[in-house]
Amino acid sequence: MAQSAVPSSSARPAPVRVPVRDILPWAVFAAVLGVVLIYFVGAEQGATSLFGGTWVHEFTHDGRHLLGFPCH
Ligand SMILES: [Zn+2]
Repeated sequence: MAQSAVPSSSARPAPVRVPVRDILPWAVFAAVLGVVLIYFVGAEQGATSLFGGTWVHEFTHDGRHLLGFPCH
């Protein structure tokens, strides 16, 4: 007699539905965080810099080149 460890019923659990209302604040937060990150990687230098010196530029320099922002 053959027995299977996998139940033979084809009933799968219902997919969990997450309301958009629950996701929206996190999506906005992630978008703002992404824009800030892109700013610091791509535009934080020279006339558009928020912080003096070049330490932010040097810190994000590899990311700049990786993402194809003009650098030097
Ligand atoms: Zn560079």
